[in-house]
Amino acid sequence: MNLEPAVKYSHTLLSPIIAQGDTVVDATVGNGNDTLFLASRVGATGHVLGFDVQQPALDRTATQLTLTGMTRQVRLIHDGHEHLDQYLEPQQQITAAIFNLGYLPGSNKQIITHGETTISALKTCLAHLRRGGIVALVVYYGHPGGEQEKETVLQTVKQLDQQQYSVLQYGFINQIHQPPFLLAIQKR
Ligand code: SAM
Repeated sequence: MNLEPAVKYSHTLLSPIIAQGDTVVDATVGNGNDTLFLASRVGATGHVLGFDVQQPALDRTATQLTLTGMTRQVRLIHDGHEHLDQYLEPQQQITAAIFNLGYLPGSNKQIITHGETTISALKTCLAHLRRGGIVALVVYYGHPGGEQEKETVLQTVKQLDQQQYSVLQYGFINQIHQPPFLLAIQKR
């Protein structure tokens, strides 16, 4: 078994905790890699809420969902993830959420996630997360603005009460070019 890159390891961690019929969130749909993964885990009876501020990215993901027969369980939302609370019922529970921070490769590099809005969405996810559920954030930070967001997110998750949450950081520390790392937050 080889040690997995952060983005792959996020799926490895989430796979065993997501069951058919669950509700989960993809906070940064982009080209839909995480959306397709989540849709396959929750199955036709589950629900994936997928957010992105770029309509072309959502359109590409919609095409992939059609090709793979998984449109039924996914709601693609052209809105910022900081508005997630408007799309969940007050008592609704989620099993998992994924964030891929930064910009979408091959797209406009000026459109990036930002610390303030990421934290707002993260707090909503944690408020709705069921016990044992996990929020995974893959933190890309090698772009302008990335370092700032990384610090904001790290400072926030480091302060989460350890009686309520287990917070894991996973990443390679001997690679050049600021490889992404994973933060995984599990509700105890
Ligand atoms: N997970 C994606 C994939 O599989 O291709 C990659 C995501 S990419 C690193 C980050 C995405 O976040 C971009 O597509 C960008 O448009 C989106 N984004 C930026 N700000 C956002 C916000 N406030 N709410 C939702 N999405 C946002």
